[in-house]
Amino acid sequence: MNNLKENLNNVRARVGSACKKAGRNPSGIVILAVSKRHPVERIRALHDLGQVCFGENYVQEALAKMDQLRENSIEWHFIGPLQSNKTADVARHFQWVQSADRIKILNRLSKQRPASLPDLNICLQVNIDREPQKAGAMPEEVMDLATAAHALPGLRLRGLMTIPMAASVQHDPSGSYRQMQSLYRELIQSGLELDTLSMGMSGDLEAAIMNGSTMVRVGTDLFGQRPE
Ligand SMILES: *Cc1c(COP(=O)(O)O)cnc(C)c1O
Repeated sequence: MNNLKENLNNVRARVGSACKKAGRNPSGIVILAVSKRHPVERIRALHDLGQVCFGENYVQEALAKMDQLRENSIEWHFIGPLQSNKTADVARHFQWVQSADRIKILNRLSKQRPASLPDLNICLQVNIDREPQKAGAMPEEVMDLATAAHALPGLRLRGLMTIPMAASVQHDPSGSYRQMQSLYRELIQSGLELDTLSMGMSGDLEAAIMNGSTMVRVGTDLFGQRPE
């Protein structure tokens, strides 16, 4: 698990065979490398192997890493819980936010996105399994939020993101992924031009790709176990 090149090839191969099974083109799936708690040296090494998109969960940690990796052309995605007092930093430094889940956060990101930068790419996070402790909008809130996000200056709504309930004997995430795919299709049918359905992680990217994922977020299977 310490060989980044081997890990990257394995993840790419898994995406490839899942696409084959689903009758999809692998060029339609973005691999996002989730680098939370992994050191900048590992990020730089993975970037040198051709990985472009990286996801971070904690604002302070991410800003420190960006500063050290300035000369690398990395596309940074914010995927962690987002509090109002952190939106300004996120709006200034990231290219994507995948964890927007309420109107207050969307309004702040819109106001705080510098006019000199391209629009901030947005995915709305959906709490598809209605877990009380989890971030994300409820499925029935998504249409209104998407309409609002679409209208805000400085933002470009790209799609939806979810972290389903952990897989267990009682719960197969495929059902959650299927519901996400219908929600995503409903938004597109309503006239929104979306291209991103961010779902699937190390353990279940195949199930997500079978159900329409266009972006898998992989930490452990690329970098190995996260340091404590
Ligand atoms: C940590 C994290 C991941 C990656 O999880 P792995 O199981 O390590 O692949 C994906 N998405 C989000 C939102 C995360 O916080």
